[in-house]
Amino acid sequence: MSEIGRNTMDHALQRRLIEAVAATVIGHTEELTDLDQAIGDGDHGLNMKRGFEAVMVEIDGLAAKPLPEALRAIGTQLVMKVGGASGPLYGTLFLTLGKELPTDPEPADAARALGTAIAAVMARGKSQPGQKTMLDVLAPTHAELLAGGDDLATRVRMRAADAADSTVPMKALRGRASFLGDRSVGHMDPGARSSSLMITAICDVLGG
Ligand code: ADP
Ligand code: MG
Repeated sequence: MSEIGRNTMDHALQRRLIEAVAATVIGHTEELTDLDQAIGDGDHGLNMKRGFEAVMVEIDGLAAKPLPEALRAIGTQLVMKVGGASGPLYGTLFLTLGKELPTDPEPADAARALGTAIAAVMARGKSQPGQKTMLDVLAPTHAELLAGGDDLATRVRMRAADAADSTVPMKALRGRASFLGDRSVGHMDPGARSSSLMITAICDVLGG
């Protein structure tokens, strides 16, 4: 395939990935609101919707940029538009992925970059997996990616969904939900759910 042909394909795929993530997050605004109403202040759905609507305004430019630049631009938008605790954290995630990923990544590159991005989120949030946050989806997803092998997209998607479910019995130790103490038990973490939605969207596009 010619270079021109390949680049055209890459930009089309990049557009589909960004559109899929944005559409899924925006389409689940109400669910994310409900989850955050149960153990937070109810703004996670609208925070994320605002961020990804801002991303979609720039979709043509984002699709045309090299992948690392596009990821950094998305990270900057999320920092500026999402707000709350999750805006700077998702911003850090995307900005770090943009710094770490090569233009044309293999699964091993994705695994390494996600590991570095998760470490950056942990540093920013002074948090770690096991505290009922987005990290409880991001970290198991990273572990599955590291394992590599067949049907990776399907396995990563299932792992992310299971990981979001597994936040239900957890007690929140970081973020607003931690103010509830034991009353945070019995609800899925909103950020865990938004992470799992984004990962599902990416796996659906990449896995066919
Ligand atoms: P806020 O809590 O400020 O209202 P959001 O509602 O947008 O912000 O986001 C809440 C989500 O952010 C939580 O469900 C959790 O997943 C994530 N979160 C909050 N604090 C942290 C932290 N310190 N580390 C990792 N994730 C966090
Ligand atoms: Mg909130």
